Amino acid sequence: MNIKIISDKELHQKTQAAAKKEKLSTLELLRHLAEVHRRVLYAEHGYSTLHKYVMSELGYSEAESWTRIQAMKLIQTSELAEERIAEGMLSLSNAAEVQKHLQEFNYTNPERIEATINLATQKSHRALVQELDRVAHREKSEKKIILQKRLLDKMAKLNKLLDTDMTELELIETLLDKEIRECELRPSRTSQADCVKETRYLPVQVRRSVATRANHQCEFKDKNGKRCAERRHLQFDHIKPFALGGNRSANNIQLLCHAHNQRRMIKTFGLMERSRHKQQND
Ligand SMILES: [Zn+2]
Repeated sequence: MNIKIISDKELHQKTQAAAKKEKLSTLELLRHLAEVHRRVLYAEHGYSTLHKYVMSELGYSEAESWTRIQAMKLIQTSELAEERIAEGMLSLSNAAEVQKHLQEFNYTNPERIEATINLATQKSHRALVQELDRVAHREKSEKKIILQKRLLDKMAKLNKLLDTDMTELELIETLLDKEIRECELRPSRTSQADCVKETRYLPVQVRRSVATRANHQCEFKDKNGKRCAERRHLQFDHIKPFALGGNRSANNIQLLCHAHNQRRMIKTFGLMERSRHKQQND
């Protein structure tokens, strides 16, 4: 159909229909993302976070990906949000802002969630941000620091040596995680008594040899042999699960990021069993 020759009335109707369709497909995308998230399916494709999956596999920018994931989390907690997005009364960016606000203040009460969604409905993003600031009288708890060029150069050098492309924040967190892990690995930190009490206890030598073998990087490899690049939030994982009789030797232990550890648990114990198993063994 050539839209250049249709009547004004028809053009208006078709534009409205196209907008409606776009809103519904946005919601459709959020629902799919929620299921990918539930199954930790992104780990299967070699990503340690849903965010990386949305950017690399679906081709969204960092900001677009953040917005969609925040909105996805909001529709998971509120049907009202889902309705409003479908009706086009709640924009993606406002939904994301609502979610950020709820998360920041740990609001889980349904009335509070509903009130915040109502506040965000049919409002410009800018006005919403101002309003949320006012409502919360928020006290910023984060600390702002200035990184001197000397430090930035060192970070760039480390990125090069590690063959990674981490942001400054990711580098700081990676280094802190690594230091903390190494401190925890010091023998003096674990007494004999702890070893006896905790049957899943991994000997320090095993932890150290696995961490060294893995070079402090997630050991997951996808079907094509591409290794996960994650260096943060690493956990020791039993290849044959401890609950199924797996032993504690280094060749039965691997270092995995949080996502790949979760994904493995889902594949071994199933979605329903995951939380139960996690509770028992944490
Ligand atoms: Zn990983």
